[in-house]
This record gives sequence, structure tokens and C-alpha cells, in this order.
Amino acid sequence: MKKDPHINSICAKEVTDPRTTRPHILPIYPTSSFAFETIDEGIEIFSQKKEGHVYGRYGNPTMEAVAGKIARLESAGTGVEAAALLFSSGQAAVSTMVAALLKTGDKILTQGNLYGGTTELFTKLFGPFGVETIMTDLHDLNRVEEVVKKDEHIRLLYFETPANPTLACVDMEALASIAHRHGRLSAVDNTFATPYLQQPLRYGVDFIVHSTTKFLNGHGNSIAGALVTPHTHQMRMGGAVWQAMKLAGTNSNPWDAWLVHNGMKTLALRMERHSANAKSVALFLENDPRVERVNYCGLPSHPDFAIAKKQMRDFGGMLSFELKDGLQAGIRFMNAIRFCTLAPTLGDVDTLILHPASMSHLNVPKEVRLENGITDGLIRLSVGIEYAGDIIGDMQQALEKI
Ligand SMILES: *Cc1c(COP(=O)(O)O)cnc(C)c1O
Repeated sequence: MKKDPHINSICAKEVTDPRTTRPHILPIYPTSSFAFETIDEGIEIFSQKKEGHVYGRYGNPTMEAVAGKIARLESAGTGVEAAALLFSSGQAAVSTMVAALLKTGDKILTQGNLYGGTTELFTKLFGPFGVETIMTDLHDLNRVEEVVKKDEHIRLLYFETPANPTLACVDMEALASIAHRHGRLSAVDNTFATPYLQQPLRYGVDFIVHSTTKFLNGHGNSIAGALVTPHTHQMRMGGAVWQAMKLAGTNSNPWDAWLVHNGMKTLALRMERHSANAKSVALFLENDPRVERVNYCGLPSHPDFAIAKKQMRDFGGMLSFELKDGLQAGIRFMNAIRFCTLAPTLGDVDTLILHPASMSHLNVPKEVRLENGITDGLIRLSVGIEYAGDIIGDMQQALEKI
């Protein structure tokens, strides 16, 4: 008779893979490390002679499957091969990229109207390490080229289009080509558009940043980020970005990665509906006499409509607007909202409303805010995929209460 191990040993022993058929849905691999068949296999994987997994911070099959899908979405139809890594947040993706590519003395050239957290990350975290951030209007291409030409320490041109929360858009093709002409790198935050509406690889951008927390996930149930690049060697085991992720521990985890994957299955449908609903809401607001100004890059009245049209398939779900009576009207409006949800995030299936001056951009200096159109009375909407009439109805009843 075969002798069973002690019951204590059965408790502790890992079971072997019980699969007899292939799972239809991507499995979550909650494992911190990976076992090797032989010592030779371990050595080959560690020394990158053989593909495989080692330790969860270095990579994990669930995370890699999801990163691979984001890379395919960004490269689909562009003819550019790309690789991606998944991070613990959008901020982790940006900070890992900067840590991997820049060193003390290097500078970042960017715009004033970035996602508030990115502005703070560059100035408060990287500033003291001797990485200076220069902000300029990236619409002024002659000036950008002039600044780049004059300062050889500028290593990275970093932009966001459409930008939070005024939906300002910049010309990715022109900016990436300035960067390349002078031997610098370019990176864009593609969170608002997602690869379904805009593919920066078409325009020669070197690095694409995503907060997958937003539209890629779409359901508001995980925090994660991604970095995509045609410089695929940087993302593989041993590459600069991969190494920075591994050393700083900014990797994602299989649970959040799985939620991003689940959400991305409906990305195309959601982005079409977000765009259609946002256009309806923007037109409604633009025609209301109590509204001073609507920022939606899909409206011909938006200053960057032509740039948006050139590089986007549609205009997405984000918009912002200002009421005629400024801050006080804004507060009354926000308090009268019934159907939409007051929450400091964006890109979910339900409509979310936020007051940037007191929430997302609270820590951005007031002069920087005002210079970039983020006034005290500005209200930001992340238009969801509900029936548009319900969203507009909520706007209408709240406008009547101001
Ligand atoms: C939310 C957001 C980020 C930061 O992403 P996290 O996942 O919260 O770290 C960066 N850029 C944009 C445009 C965002 O909306």
C-alpha cells in the first residue's frame, strides 16, 4: 500500500495544476513566486536564456496577459510593434518611466495643465532629485522647438491630450517629431482617449501612459496603470523600465490586472457610448444661457477642435463647463445634482461630477490653475453610458436650482 504523507504535510503541500481543459476566461494567478522543474531551468530563466516567470514582482502571467492586450490595442493597425508593462497605478507608471529614463540634471518639458497628480509628482518628488520640470504652452510649436534646441538637458517631452480638465489637445505628431529631431524622448498620457479613440504610436510617440483605473477598466473597481512603448527591449526582463519596476516594486498585481482585463472587453462599446452621450450633454450645456463656457474637444467651439479631429476617432466622455455666476453657482449646482455621482475619479460607466479647484487640483498652485483655465467655478463631468436623457435631465434640474 502506498504511504500517504502526514496530514500536516498535505495541508502545506501545493496541489499540482488540476486543469484538464483550457479555461475560457483568463485565470488569476495569485502566486508570489514560480517553481522550477530543475536547477538548470531556474538558471536559464534567471539569466534570460529561457522565457519564464521567477517572482511576482518581476512579472506574473495574469499581469502579462493584460499588459499584452493593452500593447495590442495601442498598436492595432499602426504597423508599430509595442510592448507594455502593468503598474500599481497610473502614477506608478509615470514615476517608473521617469526613474528609468532620466537622471539628475535631466529636465522634463511639459504643459501646465497636466493631471494634478502628475504635476505634483514631477515637481515635488523628482524636483528634489535634481530633475527639473519646465512648463510651457505646448500649442506653440515654434517656442517648444526653440526651448528644446537651447537646452540640451531636456530629455523628455511629456504631454497629455486631451488634458484634464479643460480638454485642451496638443499635436502629438508635431511634438514627437520635435523630440526626435533633437534626439529627445516623448511621452503622452492617453488616459482620457484610450487606444480606441487615439493611438499615439501612429505619431511616433515613444511612451504611452495610462491610468487604467479610468476608461480601460471602466467600472471603478481597481487602481492600476500601464506603460506602452515601441522600444520593446526596455520592457523585457533586464530592460531599463522593467528593471526600475522590479527594483522600485511598482508592479501591478494579478487581482487588479484581472479586473482591468474584464473591463477592457467592452472598451469599444463603452467609448462609443461615452462619446455620443458626452456630445449630447455638451450641446445641451452650450445652449443653456446660465452656462458661460463648455470645454469639450468635440465641439467646434473648442479651441483645439481641429487638433482633436486630426488625431482622434471620436472625442470621448470627458467635458467641463463653467456657470455664469462662478464659484457660488457651481457649489449650488453640485449640491442640486441627483442622478450623477459626486466622486473624484473618471471613466466609469456611470456619470461622475467633480469640482477641480477643490478636489483634483487642490494642490496645484492657484496661478498655475488659472493660467490653464481651471477656474474656481469650473465643473468637470465624466459622462457615463446611461440613457443620455437621464444625464441631461439631471443637469437641467440642477441648473434651475442655481
Ligand atoms: C487618474 C489619472 C492619472 C493617475 O492615475 P492613478 O491610477 O490614479 O495613479 C494620471 N493621468 C490622468 C489623466 C488621470 O486621469
